[in-house]
Amino acid sequence: MSKAKPKLALYWAASCGGCEIAVLAVNEKILDVAAAFDIVFWPVAVDAKVRDVEKMPDGSIDVCLFNGGIRTSEQEYMAQLLRRKSKALVAFGSCAHEGCIPGLANLNNREEIFNTVYKEGSATQPENPKNLRPLPETEVAEGTLHLPVFYDTLKTLNQTVAVDYYLPGCPPEAENILAAVTAIIEGKLPPPGSVIGKNTTVCDECPRKRNEKKIKKFHRTWEIIPDEETCLLEQGLLCCGIATRAGCGALCPAVNSPCIGCHGPNDGVLDFGARMMSALSSVIDSEDPEEINRIIQEGIPDPVGSFYRFSLAASQLRRKHRPANEKSATTK
Ligand code: SF4
Ligand code: SF4
Repeated sequence: MSKAKPKLALYWAASCGGCEIAVLAVNEKILDVAAAFDIVFWPVAVDAKVRDVEKMPDGSIDVCLFNGGIRTSEQEYMAQLLRRKSKALVAFGSCAHEGCIPGLANLNNREEIFNTVYKEGSATQPENPKNLRPLPETEVAEGTLHLPVFYDTLKTLNQTVAVDYYLPGCPPEAENILAAVTAIIEGKLPPPGSVIGKNTTVCDECPRKRNEKKIKKFHRTWEIIPDEETCLLEQGLLCCGIATRAGCGALCPAVNSPCIGCHGPNDGVLDFGARMMSALSSVIDSEDPEEINRIIQEGIPDPVGSFYRFSLAASQLRRKHRPANEKSATTK
């Protein structure tokens, strides 16, 4: 009798879908993945229902690659269900790992988000005369309609359930996905809780020349055409490679574009933004607090978007301050 294949599940929560496409970017190797695993749940590609997963014995899925943050009650339920059913739960990609772009919505509360999307006259809702909003329950003649509860705060996967491994990137690069999947097949994974990948920085992979030159001014990317050999940061472009985990092969600096930090920080760094700000302090050519303030304010007009683009939900800040009088039932 042939040996049973390990069972693989893939799920997509609050994310853009890019991580699903990244899985397909392994090209013909997807056939190796399909040959090596029994894919038991992958809503975007395979017809299986949640009730099928509910019926599986606990721990019967060998590996679940879970992408996306947790924004709704449905995503929270799926995270808990797949946690229970899986031996190894992998936070797959930046959204599950750190919240990523969906986590930037933690700068607003649910009401502000709904106003942006549903208010009559908003960019996405030219007509809504009754000012309708999605409700968890709506009574109609046929019964009660249910929608997932939209939470006030986006959570990362490990703020919701225990996570075994993290695969960074927005999205993870195809070769890193393959390496992780191969390691799983061969039982060569690092200790639980690890980020799968390197523990050096993008600067270590970047071939640009560094001269330890300090800067007096940051430029926006469209303001200058940088030379192709010198470190972008030393040319005044905010490159996050100094604080970002390696593994991508310095893709962005290779095409004259600063690293924006999608792989997150290295092991032991609690807060990517704080790490980035501390790294920048050694690059700014001034000792005068007022001048430093001016250099930052003029050159980095969106500090949260620049330093916490991928990691706000996972950071020490986590979200915009929430007034104490907001009810917990609606602000989870
Ligand atoms: S700061 Fe950016 S451009 Fe400079 S060496 Fe690091 S990754 Fe390369
Ligand atoms: S260079 Fe930075 S932003 Fe670009 S892919 Fe690598 S880690 Fe992500």
